[in-house]
Amino acid sequence: MLKYDLHSHTNASDGVLSPSDLIQRAIEKKVNILAITDHDTVSGLNEAHAYIAQNCQQDESAPFYLINGIEASTVWENKDIHIVGLNVDIESAALLDFVNAQKETRQARAKLMAERLEKANIEGAYEGAKQFADREANITRAHFAKWLVKAGHAKNVPEVFKKYLVRGKPGYVPPPWCEMKIAIDAIHRAGGQAVLAHPIHYKLTTKWLRRLIIAFKDAGGEGMEIAYPQQSIQERRLLADLAKEYQLLTSQGSDFHYETSWLELGKNLYQLDDVTPIWCDWSLDKK
Ligand code: AMP
Ligand code: MN
Ligand code: MN
Ligand code: MN
Repeated sequence: MLKYDLHSHTNASDGVLSPSDLIQRAIEKKVNILAITDHDTVSGLNEAHAYIAQNCQQDESAPFYLINGIEASTVWENKDIHIVGLNVDIESAALLDFVNAQKETRQARAKLMAERLEKANIEGAYEGAKQFADREANITRAHFAKWLVKAGHAKNVPEVFKKYLVRGKPGYVPPPWCEMKIAIDAIHRAGGQAVLAHPIHYKLTTKWLRRLIIAFKDAGGEGMEIAYPQQSIQERRLLADLAKEYQLLTSQGSDFHYETSWLELGKNLYQLDDVTPIWCDWSLDKK
């Protein structure tokens, strides 16, 4: 059976590995189909494809395919909602316009975060966060978190989020992102499929989760993630049932950013028998 991991990050956003190193690791972990889905950018994908072309010989018993993806930041009901786009054409003008607009939004938001931190007597946060961003990577809260830890403002990343980067805390900026439909339209115009990322992550009651799924579907989305590495079978079942009820295709991904003891590329990712995976009609040999 082929192993799919359709959500992962490189240092083109807040992942630690370069695109080449991520591909190498995915192959070592016996992932067959990997999607790179960096936050609001597709800039890591060319390097990843070049690495595969130079270093990976297709072995029929262990095929490897790279899916062009993106994780788009959007807002719904004043909450950050992430939408994964799969199989996007990375040269599509609609996608590039979208990515450029998101980059500007990220840039302005990072500056605003730094201004707010300055009011809490933390200076130099923008430059600090940038030090942790490779090349032209989009700056995320994860970059701020790493710098804040290094500068001694908290012991570790989870603590820094709680203390500074979540709603009600000094560095928090309400989601400045576009509505779901804008991201979904850009993904569709680039020939891709739109997947609601990590639905449990939003900490919604089931009633509100249903509302989110309905809004996502109304905006044109076609899939939702139901499987992550660290998850109870009950949670996977609940998400699968919601996907069935709302007639959404299902996806899975590790959301890998860097090596930890509890999360790995391809780990504990599988579908339940009664759902329709998003890849049901993909013809992989064309990619
Ligand atoms: P942003 O898209 O700039 O809001 O940053 C979101 C990223 O920050 C996520 O993709 C995670 O990588 C990271 N993140 C968010 N919340 C937490 C948290 N509580 N602890 C650690 N990392 C987090
Ligand atoms: Mn991230
Ligand atoms: Mn996410
Ligand atoms: Mn992610």
